[in-house]
Amino acid sequence: MNKKNEKRTANMTTNDSVALTDFIRNIITEDLKANKNEARIVTRFPPEPNGYLHIGHAKSICLNFGIAAENKGICNLRFDDTNPSKEDIEYVESIKEDVRWLGFNWNDRLFYASDYFEQLYQYAVQLVKAGKAYVCDLNAQEIRDYRGTLTKPGKESPYRTRSVEENLDLFERMRAGEFEDGSRVLRAKIDMASGNLNMRDPVIYRILRAEHHRTGDKWCIYPMYDFAHCLSDSLEGITHSICTLEFEDHRPLYDWFLDELNVHHPQQIEFARLNLSYTVMSKRKLAELVEQGHVTGWDDPRMPTLSGLRRRGYTPESIRNFCERIGVAKRDSMVDIALLEHCIREDLNQHAPRVMGVLRPLRVVIDNYPEDQIEELDGPYHPEDSSMGSRKLPFSRVLYIERDDFREDPPKKFFRLSLGREVRLRYAYYIKCTRVVKDEQTNEVVEVHCTYDPETRGGWSSDGRKVRGTLHWVSADHSLEAEVRLYDRLFDKANPTGEKDTDFKTYLNPNSLETLTSCRVEPSLAGEAPGSRSQFERLGYFCVDAKDSSDGALAFNRTVTLRDSWAKIEKRKK
Ligand code: ATP
Ligand code: MG
Repeated sequence: MNKKNEKRTANMTTNDSVALTDFIRNIITEDLKANKNEARIVTRFPPEPNGYLHIGHAKSICLNFGIAAENKGICNLRFDDTNPSKEDIEYVESIKEDVRWLGFNWNDRLFYASDYFEQLYQYAVQLVKAGKAYVCDLNAQEIRDYRGTLTKPGKESPYRTRSVEENLDLFERMRAGEFEDGSRVLRAKIDMASGNLNMRDPVIYRILRAEHHRTGDKWCIYPMYDFAHCLSDSLEGITHSICTLEFEDHRPLYDWFLDELNVHHPQQIEFARLNLSYTVMSKRKLAELVEQGHVTGWDDPRMPTLSGLRRRGYTPESIRNFCERIGVAKRDSMVDIALLEHCIREDLNQHAPRVMGVLRPLRVVIDNYPEDQIEELDGPYHPEDSSMGSRKLPFSRVLYIERDDFREDPPKKFFRLSLGREVRLRYAYYIKCTRVVKDEQTNEVVEVHCTYDPETRGGWSSDGRKVRGTLHWVSADHSLEAEVRLYDRLFDKANPTGEKDTDFKTYLNPNSLETLTSCRVEPSLAGEAPGSRSQFERLGYFCVDAKDSSDGALAFNRTVTLRDSWAKIEKRKK
């Protein structure tokens, strides 16, 4: 049987039709006009390899790679790997895969903060020599106690006045492994009375004997994020260091290090992170769901991770489109997950071939259809795009329809099949129900008997007789068995992290996954490639699960239903 795969043209860049504008792009336009940085644009996407990327990261990726592409600039992929105890090579690989999948390319500009460890150490020595950093022997708790609060100034460490020589000696010996983990730190000497807590002599190096996934046990001191990040940006010649709002209070420190060391000084610009309803967006929380088995892994199709969305059936185009639509703002807000679902529906509505599958099969016997006859009926793959072609649907005496599509006692406005009622089988014939067979014990209808009208081949009656219902169906003997997973939102509360005193996991939706095991799908889906997507008529968009599907066992994940709540909201607004 001929098979039609999704039709799409390669389109690897975002925004090739409309020019995007937002406050960051405005800054960039102004900088280009003013010939700042010789009119070069260099951005970076700097993930810490301590988890899988999520849809929030996609926003940052689209922004950084997008801005570079729009301005003939470049965008680096840099792993901010300064925290060896939480990081892993598995995360590095998954992040690379996800960025590529989203459609972006860092070419030969893959960097690691750990590549700069020696240089960063030298920068720290430079600060010590300039009297701008000192080795402090207070323990973590004492440092916290000395730090003061927003309303109370901090207290200076008794070690703050150590001589440059002593500091140099101690810092060198920290590196050489002479001291216990946590016994000493290197701190910047800034201002313990600063109104900004980040400026109260922040720690810039700590002693930590942890195997690093790239540098092994070469180092037993590691730079802190704030120190490593600005200097990595600087070393790479980044012009615009775009990050999320929680770093706004860190900007004075970002600027302080670069000014004190008198090195290339990128401009840090903060934007509001993406928050999405009915899910969580912190790697720590997502890791908790994985570790405690609330989901099957980082790529569980219910997860907001890129690997989860991919397995669910999302396309990179739909995610890039979503990121463009939500825009970039300065104020935190919550985006309705219905918008994300709307974006994938819009994409699949255009590109996904239509097929038929029956999720909860009910046997239908067409009593007046010849026992040994099989017809091949034509079914176009797309109602509006004839270039997608069509496939042959085998029709025979015994079929399956959806259990829900038959009612013994039909309520008002139920236009599907019931005793004595005539309906259309999509692309096939009109059928009329004549009797039912019930299970003697449960009284459940187990089989429906019908007659068909041979004059209605293709699903149209020549005498103009109308039917109100059109059902999807498959031939019992020709259809394939499949497992189908139906998903609902992972949480049943829009903002599961909104309540301080309640664990977000309290709001996990116990019905977020329903697995149906005896589904039947049309034979054209045999051998369908992992990840390929189609619309099951009337039921939604589905994709072949990339992990659990094999030649012999088809497994489908429902990406989304057909009901578009976002489109409805939009319509009401108009
Ligand atoms: P965590 O969730 O553990 O706080 P993180 O999500 O900030 O960590 P990083 O690896 O540091 O993880 O993120 C890489 C980049 O992605 C950063 O520049 C960060 O600002 C950006 N980013 C992270 N989350 C979001 C989000 N929800 N929306 C937009 N950008 C984000
Ligand atoms: Mg972070």
